[in-house]
Amino acid sequence: MQLSLASVLHESALRFPDRVAAIEDAREATYRELWDGALARAAVLRELGVRPGDRVALLAPNGIDFVTAYFGIVAAGAVVVPVAPMLVADEIEHLVRDSGARLALAEHGCAAQLAPAVAAAGVPAVVLRDGGDDDLTTRAGDVNPLPAAVARTSEEPAVLFYTSGTTGRPKGAILSHGNLVMNCFVNAFMANEFRGDDVVLGCLPLFHTFGQTVAMNSAFLVGATVVLQPRFDAADALALMRRHDVNVLIGVPTMYIALLEALGDGEPVALRMCVSGGAPLPVAVLEAFEARFGCCVQEGYGLSETSPTATVNQPSFGLRPGSIGHPLWGVEVEIARPEVEDRIELLGEEQLGEIVIRGHNVFAGYHGLPEATAAALVDGWFRTGDLGVKDADGFRHVIDRKKDMILRGGYNVYPREVEEALARHPQVEQVAVVGVPHPTHGEEVLAVVVARARAAGEDPLTAEELIAWAAERVARHKRPRLVAFAGSLPLGPSRKVLKRELRAQYAHLGEAP
Ligand code: ATP
Repeated sequence: MQLSLASVLHESALRFPDRVAAIEDAREATYRELWDGALARAAVLRELGVRPGDRVALLAPNGIDFVTAYFGIVAAGAVVVPVAPMLVADEIEHLVRDSGARLALAEHGCAAQLAPAVAAAGVPAVVLRDGGDDDLTTRAGDVNPLPAAVARTSEEPAVLFYTSGTTGRPKGAILSHGNLVMNCFVNAFMANEFRGDDVVLGCLPLFHTFGQTVAMNSAFLVGATVVLQPRFDAADALALMRRHDVNVLIGVPTMYIALLEALGDGEPVALRMCVSGGAPLPVAVLEAFEARFGCCVQEGYGLSETSPTATVNQPSFGLRPGSIGHPLWGVEVEIARPEVEDRIELLGEEQLGEIVIRGHNVFAGYHGLPEATAAALVDGWFRTGDLGVKDADGFRHVIDRKKDMILRGGYNVYPREVEEALARHPQVEQVAVVGVPHPTHGEEVLAVVVARARAAGEDPLTAEELIAWAAERVARHKRPRLVAFAGSLPLGPSRKVLKRELRAQYAHLGEAP
C-alpha cells in the first residue's frame, strides 16, 4: 500500500492551505507554506545526494525549521533520525554512525555540538538557517521544489527513533510510514479526538516520539495549530497558552507538575483536552490539575517502539484515573507471563505480568540488531519490559518497569505504588522511589523528594514525617526507610525522571551502617 507520512502535512495543505499550522515566537507558517517549504527542502536534499531510503539525522529544538526539515526528509523518501539537541558529541556520534546517516541537518545553535560528531563519523552537515548561502533555508529558496513527495509504501521506514530504555547504548527503533500514519490517525480521530480549530501547545520535544506523533502529527492531520515551544519552561508555557488561546495540552507528568507549581494561585487557562503519557502520572497530580485547570487529563501509555501510543483513556470507554485506559483502535495490549521468554503465554484479568503489544503501531525491529529484535518481538507480540494488569473492566494499568522493581528482603516492591502514596502528601511537589543496595536486605527503598516550600515560620518537611505518612498508606516492606531531599530530579531529554541516575547518586545511602 502506498502511504507516506508526508501525506499528514500534504493533505492538510490541500484542505486548509491558509490556516496557520505552526507558531514559533513571532513567526508563523500556514499549511501551504510548510508543505511548499518541505518540497523545496526535499529538492535540496536530493541535490545533496540523499536518495529514498537514506537516513538523515536531524538535530534541532522545536521550531518551524524543525518541521520543514522533518517533512522535507520524509518528502524526499528518506528516513528521519531525530537527535536530541542536549546529547553530547559522543552520543551524537553513536547515533550518526549507527544509523549510517548520509547527511546531518542541524539548527544553527546546535551546529557546534554536531560538528565534532559528524567529523568523526565522516558525514556532511548542513545548517538549517544561519543567513549564509549554504544553509538549508537559502538553498531551498534557490531550487525548483520537488513536484510531489516521493511515493513510499506503508512498510518502508520513515523514522528511526533512538531509545535507550534505561540501560546500554541507544538502539534505533525502525518505525514505518504505516506505523506512524496509523498512530496519529487513530489518536486524532478515535482516541484523543482532535479538532481543526484546536490550538495545541507543542511543548513536548519533537525529536521524541510522543511530541512528534501526538502533539505534531495528530494536530496537523486535522488542520489544527501547534504553538511550538523550543524548550519547556512552565512559566513560559502558561504565557504561550494565554497569548495564543491554547486549548490542548499534550505532556509528560513532570510538565503537569511544573505547570501546577507555576500557576500557583493565578488565573488558570481554559483547556479542552489534556493528554499525559511517557511516565506514570500520580493520581494526586491528575486530581490537582483537573481542579485548577478544569480539564480532565487522559493518561495514555506507549513506547518509541509502538509509534508511540498503545493505550489511552478514551472518552468512548470512560476515563479511569490511575489507569492507562484501553488499547488504541486496531491494537492489542495484553499481559503475558514474564518469566517465559521464548514464547508468549497470555495471562487473564487481574493477573500481574509483562505488557505485550500487537498491532499496526508495533515497529519492525531495531536497526542492525537482530538479537535485540528477536528478544523484543516474540510470536508476533512486542515485549515491553513493563509490568501491568488488565482489570475486570478492560482498563490496563502499568505497575512499573520490570527493571525498576525493588527486591527488598525477598519481597517485590513496585516504586510506583509508593510514589502514589507519597505524592498525596501536601508538601511533596515531586517524588521518585528507587532501590539502593543494602547489606542485609539486598535492596532498600529510597524516596527522593522535591519538597514544596512551606509558609514562613513553618518547619521544613522531614524524613520522619514522610516515613510516618507512608506507614499509614503502604505495607511495612514497601515503606521508604531512606529519604533524600533534592532541589530537583534529574530529567532525560524527554523530561522523564532518570531513575538510573538517582540509583547511582544515592547508592551509598543504602550501604551506610
Ligand atoms: P529513553 O527516553 O531513554 O529512550 P524510555 O524507556 O523512557 O527511554 P520511551 O520509549 O520514551 O523510552 O518510553 C517508554 C516507557 O515509558 C515505557 O516502557 C514505560 O515504562 C514508560 N511509560 C510510558 N507511558 C507510561 C504511563 N502512562 N505510565 C507508566 N509508564 C509509562
